[in-house]
Amino acid sequence: MRQHRIDTPREPDDRHLVRGAGRPVVAAPAGVWHPRAGSITELQRTAGNHVVGRLLLGGAQGAAGAPTVQRAPYGLESPKSRGAYVAEAARLRRAQPRMSLSAFAEALLTLVAGELKAAGVPPVRWTIKESGSGPDGVFSSTDWRVLVNTSAFSAQKTPPKEIGLLTDPEVTAAAGTLYHEARHADQDVVIIRDLLAQKRTVDQVVAATGIRRKTVQSVRSTTYAAPLDADQRAHAARMYDVMYGPNNQFLKLLMTHRKLFAGLGMLAEPGSRLPDGKRHVTTLATWQSTTLTPTLARLAASKNLTAAQKDLHTRLRSVDAEITALLVVWKAAHVKKPAPTAADDVRVAAGDTRDALDEAYRSLESEADAFWVEGLVAAALEQKLAKP
Ligand SMILES: [Zn+2]
Repeated sequence: MRQHRIDTPREPDDRHLVRGAGRPVVAAPAGVWHPRAGSITELQRTAGNHVVGRLLLGGAQGAAGAPTVQRAPYGLESPKSRGAYVAEAARLRRAQPRMSLSAFAEALLTLVAGELKAAGVPPVRWTIKESGSGPDGVFSSTDWRVLVNTSAFSAQKTPPKEIGLLTDPEVTAAAGTLYHEARHADQDVVIIRDLLAQKRTVDQVVAATGIRRKTVQSVRSTTYAAPLDADQRAHAARMYDVMYGPNNQFLKLLMTHRKLFAGLGMLAEPGSRLPDGKRHVTTLATWQSTTLTPTLARLAASKNLTAAQKDLHTRLRSVDAEITALLVVWKAAHVKKPAPTAADDVRVAAGDTRDALDEAYRSLESEADAFWVEGLVAAALEQKLAKP
């Protein structure tokens, strides 16, 4: 039975500002989707919090240690925006225990929308649902809308409906999630502004990104206090590359197969039924042969990769190695009636593959940035709530 991951590079722990507050997992471009929360909730339901805790790591930097902290801050990253948000979340938590979770989300998003508007971000809308499956938060750039599922704010069997019934960490995570998703709107505006600065037309920006036309037009007609500086434009280019550009294959996989991450997590659990994981293994096998292998060949042949692209290349090689290992043990196990050790091999490999996907995901420029901002907010809120 395999005990260890293959070759995924581990990050030093000090990269992570907040353990247990950032949520991981899987986002997507165009319809920007973040299976993070959905996956987490599903994991929590099947695996328990100790497994999830291992995954809940927010990145503090951009890909490959890109100096995101050195560029001029924008939008929700500003201390003023974060401070107002944390103060309001803490106030509601303390003063309004009977407030419904949807009213809580509504109040926080209203505040965030005001901050975004002040930063020149086209009005962000939201839809809040209180039940059903799906992640706690999603940002759709095609619809320019945050989608919230308050029933995913808690891992409790019967999801609570009022703030007072959530634990402090659940409140912190929910507030962090909403901020994270809103941050993606911020990011898209920076991407749009960078493309417009490259003399792309509105049509071209819409075609290249799939972002809602009205949003692109609105950015086009907004006058910003200052043009993007060189570091901000480099940040925009790195985000574009992995979200909408030539290296978006990984996010595309996760967007197209929204249950992949959680599916691998369930397959990794002790006693899991192997046939339940078949479609996810098939998805990975197909993606590896049709997309990942040629992508890795292209990256390996490129002479002038940026640091972020080199980092992506390394992480995708880890993903590739884990998929290969999974497929080997999968083929060796008789999936319908596997020997116990063969089934365990599959479970370990599935967990390793899931972890490699998660690490690659969290390292993408856009996610590292969103987790970083989320982490700042969550850490501040955590501290505030801990005070008597
Ligand atoms: Zn995200």
